[in-house]
Amino acid sequence: MTPSLPPSTRSPAAAGLSQAAQKQQFALQVCSECQTVQYPPRDVCAHCLGDALPWQPVSPYATLMASTTLHHSNEPYFQEKLPWRIGTVQLDCGPVAIAHLSASLQSGDRVCVSLELDPAGVGVLVAHPLSPTRHQETQP
Ligand SMILES: [Zn+2]
Repeated sequence: MTPSLPPSTRSPAAAGLSQAAQKQQFALQVCSECQTVQYPPRDVCAHCLGDALPWQPVSPYATLMASTTLHHSNEPYFQEKLPWRIGTVQLDCGPVAIAHLSASLQSGDRVCVSLELDPAGVGVLVAHPLSPTRHQETQP
């Protein structure tokens, strides 16, 4: 039996997420002109339209703004895993992102976000509860 895979849109910019995940690094694009951290990955800066957006390690800390539980999906991959918790996180480095939630996190919780490869090899964000033991390994 072939496992079903999550849907994915593949673009050169999004491939950077997978590469960072493979290196177990929390890296996002940072504009060389104005230092704005970009998410989701894009080809030009959302702030100044600069096109120099090298991937750099950024702070993985964030605050969970809202969470929801998916009970229904049209995608076979998600259907196998329902209910599926996702949330909106405000990253300390700037952008707001959608992340999978690893545990019973509540809105307002401080979280540490990691980049992980999903079964299709796509880099996805996963929010973990912030705990003192994770603090050291995530420092640059
Ligand atoms: Zn910029």
